[in-house]
Amino acid sequence: FFGDIEMAPPIEVFNLTRQYNEDPNSKKYNLGVGAYRTNDGKPWVLPVVRTVEAQMATDETLNHEYLPVAGMPDFRKEAIKLLLGENCSAIVENRVEGVQAIGGTGAIRVCANFCKKILNFDNMYTSNPTWGNHMGIFKACGFSNVKQYRYWNAETRSIDFEGMIEDLGAAPDKTVVILHGCCHNPTGVNPNKDQWRQIIDLVIEKKFMVLLDEAYQGFATGDLDADGWTARYLVERGLEFFVSQSFSKNFGLYNERIGNLVIVCANSDVKVKVRSQMEMIVRTTWSNSPNHGARIVATVLNNAATLDEWKNNVKEMATRIILMRKMLKEKLSALGTPGSWDHITNQTGMFSFTGLNPSQVDVLTKKYHIYLLKNGRINMCALTTHNIDYIAEAIHHAVTES
Ligand code: PLP
Repeated sequence: FFGDIEMAPPIEVFNLTRQYNEDPNSKKYNLGVGAYRTNDGKPWVLPVVRTVEAQMATDETLNHEYLPVAGMPDFRKEAIKLLLGENCSAIVENRVEGVQAIGGTGAIRVCANFCKKILNFDNMYTSNPTWGNHMGIFKACGFSNVKQYRYWNAETRSIDFEGMIEDLGAAPDKTVVILHGCCHNPTGVNPNKDQWRQIIDLVIEKKFMVLLDEAYQGFATGDLDADGWTARYLVERGLEFFVSQSFSKNFGLYNERIGNLVIVCANSDVKVKVRSQMEMIVRTTWSNSPNHGARIVATVLNNAATLDEWKNNVKEMATRIILMRKMLKEKLSALGTPGSWDHITNQTGMFSFTGLNPSQVDVLTKKYHIYLLKNGRINMCALTTHNIDYIAEAIHHAVTES
């Protein structure tokens, strides 16, 4: 059965970590990984998560029974409130549903399944570039027309808004359009509010289904409400739409696989039917979600003191990222590295699309043992006050030498 199987291509981001781990040089840096790091280069278990986990460990009223198929009710309710704001009209009108999922990935997966099987969509458009898994998930769910709209202007190192609107304008009817709510991965570049208005005008005109990918709420500004603006704006415009929420980054719960698919419906009758079909999809996909991550998120969000503490933890992460952006730009400017580096501080979120080309990336890896994706994306949290001089000088040499 298995003898003729060919090797699948490596997954770039995991391959990069393997190469980094195998590098015997002691002075090496991995800027590829998509997770937060402290200024000491270490993973961070948020203090508020530690506190809640300690309480959970001794709480004898908790057990490990199955959750409802759509997931933990308190978690879904709190996650929706966090995204849309407590006073959101759609919440008040009882027309928003949440389906707990295996990370943001699982939320995107059940959304794609639903759009294909229940809504009969066959076209999906996502940005070029985008998070490496969007296209694969929709193809795996049977979408036969999976395309990318222009998004990044390499010359200006900012959004190619005209290209985006032109490509979306030419997309067929019945298209699912993926938009990143904030902190676009990998570019760190997002539409401004006026551009969002124009995008949603087009979405309404063309009757697109929007899937808003919200994997980094809080990471752009450190303010969860400000970063939730896009989803709230879509409600204001009267759309029915999906949002895939991930708590991997803003709770540091990467391996707990905790996400939520938010579905904003036209009314509460529709919502009940949507949930019933979603439950069928979850039932045949993973049957039932795990509770540990959901319980942590629900407990933290449900209590004013822990909510406050968590908001401070998020702010701390965002502030460190913003500081690293500023320091990198200043150091490159001080070194006289050719080109403008303003985009480093104009971009938001965990990643920066540096504009380094593949041969410059090659120099960084081979000569300086600095690992990053071929497209020049770096994780800003991989920079620290201890390694930033070395990394800035290496970038300077890579740009001037190649
Ligand atoms: N969407 C985007 C844009 C991401 O960057 C990621 C993770 O890196 C995800 C979705 C998936 O998140 P999760 O790890 O929670 O599945």
